[in-house]
Amino acid sequence: MLKKTVHKDKKLLWISPFVVFLSPQPAQMQLYKSTRDLQKALRSEKSKKRRVGLVPTMGALHLGHLSLVKRSLYQNDITVVSIFVNPTQFNDENDLAAYPRMLEKDLILLSAEQGEIWVYAPQAEDIYDGNISSKKYDFNNLDQVMEGPNRPGHFNGVATIVERLLRITRPNHAYFGEKDYQQLLIISRVAKQMRLGVKIVGCAIIRESSGLAMSSRNQRLSPAAQSKATFIYQQLLWAKRRFTSMSLPKIKEAVITAFQNHPSFELEYFEINEALKLSAHQERIKNKKYRAFIAAKIDGVRLIDNLAMN
Ligand code: AMP
Repeated sequence: MLKKTVHKDKKLLWISPFVVFLSPQPAQMQLYKSTRDLQKALRSEKSKKRRVGLVPTMGALHLGHLSLVKRSLYQNDITVVSIFVNPTQFNDENDLAAYPRMLEKDLILLSAEQGEIWVYAPQAEDIYDGNISSKKYDFNNLDQVMEGPNRPGHFNGVATIVERLLRITRPNHAYFGEKDYQQLLIISRVAKQMRLGVKIVGCAIIRESSGLAMSSRNQRLSPAAQSKATFIYQQLLWAKRRFTSMSLPKIKEAVITAFQNHPSFELEYFEINEALKLSAHQERIKNKKYRAFIAAKIDGVRLIDNLAMN
């Protein structure tokens, strides 16, 4: 017979006497604001050979972030979710100021997950050890397209904070979304180059039922703008449908024109690039994978998305 149990996270769980050991447990959550305290606690857990997963985020969490958290909970004993709006990766002061911050709400969302979650929410001075600036990296040209030229300094800022997070937490795995596909490639390179001993795990893009890629920035869009923003995914799907029948320059031209004719969008770029080096090709090369990438502004909010073409 099934028994109804109410846990402290107010979720209803149906537990049979036979599956009680498999039934989910609410998250055992800890909040660390101090880097030193986090490192001390992690050292103690690692000495017990417990595996650590890291999920770096800037907060304002949604189901996209939670998909990374779930994957980490599955593969590790402890999942460290960092919540930190990193100032050095913003090239636009207004964008940084407008970025949503909602730690309390984020903690509530995470507390509904099942497993051991440590939230690391430091102040900038603490995580940067008093020197809030970016290092300079060689990304082997991965930063020379798309987000790179459009957001000067962005990837040096991202790599600086991620390297810092990896050195602080020394995780077994670190999880990044394909939503920021260029970032995922860049981080994978940095982790390998620096021999940080971590496996970087890429996770699929989570979308609204409308197709709009989930993003913390969507919260800044009106319902009408959110609905219009599905145009981005529709254009990616259109490109994918034409991928084998039209030339790459013709697909590009058609999508760029579609954006120019749309009254609500300001297109920053649309590219179809080779999926590993991000190089642009006039013609498809057999056996290579390609991806299409879009960055566009709607109502002053900058959105990015991408889709595998083959
Ligand atoms: P952010 O808080 O925007 O810096 O994102 C933190 C991590 O979550 C990054 O690795 C993102 O790529 C990932 N992420 C954000 N949105 C999504 C999404 N819709 N699907 C999958 N991963 C995502």
